[in-house]
Amino acid sequence: MSVSTRVDLALLGIRGQPPVSRSAGAGPSDDGHLVIDGMNAALPRNPQSPYEFDGQRLLYDGVDTGLDVAVINRPRFYDLHTADGVAYEQIARLHGRDVLATTVVQTCIRYAEDQRCRFCSIEESLRTGSTVAVKRPADLAEVAAAAVRLDGVRQMVMTTGTSAGRDRGARHLARCTAAVRAAVPDLPIQVQCEPPDDLATITELRSAGADSIGIHVESMDDTVRRRWMPGKSTVPLVDYWAAWTEAVRVFGRNQVSTYLIVGLGEDPDELVTSARQLIDAGVYPFVVPFRPHPGTLAVDADRVGAPDPALVEKVSRQVAEHLTFTGMLGADQRAGCAACGACSVLQNVGG
Ligand code: SF4
Repeated sequence: MSVSTRVDLALLGIRGQPPVSRSAGAGPSDDGHLVIDGMNAALPRNPQSPYEFDGQRLLYDGVDTGLDVAVINRPRFYDLHTADGVAYEQIARLHGRDVLATTVVQTCIRYAEDQRCRFCSIEESLRTGSTVAVKRPADLAEVAAAAVRLDGVRQMVMTTGTSAGRDRGARHLARCTAAVRAAVPDLPIQVQCEPPDDLATITELRSAGADSIGIHVESMDDTVRRRWMPGKSTVPLVDYWAAWTEAVRVFGRNQVSTYLIVGLGEDPDELVTSARQLIDAGVYPFVVPFRPHPGTLAVDADRVGAPDPALVEKVSRQVAEHLTFTGMLGADQRAGCAACGACSVLQNVGG
């Protein structure tokens, strides 16, 4: 598959519904998951896309693209329930072919309309009843064990909405990590949270059994941050740097990552410069295109569309070049979004 086709798919998305899909939620969502040319691909679902998934193949304007598409079947663990009747599917979901993902707290203190990140729909999946507000550590352990046993899951991602405490939700993440680690000792786990006030919390997460950590800034441009993330931008970049630096010390080089979103209006050269600084500090910048999906303020209020494909390809290539140069590959992360790669084109261009 050419890089431009992969970028097109990332931006235009597909019609049709692969068996493994997700609607609203934290981060990039409303997508269908396939394996294309052996690589994970989380593609936006877009009824207007010229690409169509027909249940087996990817067509473009009705013609088979010839791409090597592997369909990921609905996982068997989705059919199980906890003793008190909660569907496993409401506790954690399959992403790609082998990633188990969950949002341990599905609410966010920043979700007031004038505070929330304009690309996020974390509480929408809660509103529609497709998930539960707080995942209990014991339930996550039970689901993770089943997902490994029945569906061959190979890594787990745990993210969280931000809580009001000084730890910003990291302590509950640590409790969940410890429970999963005890139940499935060999399952690599990535945790994702905002920079905690007390940097010792990062060691707590590592000690609980997390293998890697994502501390997601989304943009390094303060003007963009204030416009797109009014609540989250109150955490200054200097706090992010302190958390990343401590995380690299605790977790190791290339076991720490952050999201950078292309298409929020940041100067692309500055975005690439920031990405290089992060890489040099041992932090993997997981570059993803902005994905417009209903249920977010960006779409429902601002009507923002997807970025220019040429820009996404250029930025991804420039960042991948520095990742390759420094020997920091997504595939070398023990767990997490950079290891999975489905929401980005970085791995398709060598990162
Ligand atoms: S990159 Fe992250 S959010 Fe996207 S499918 Fe993979 S694990 Fe899920």
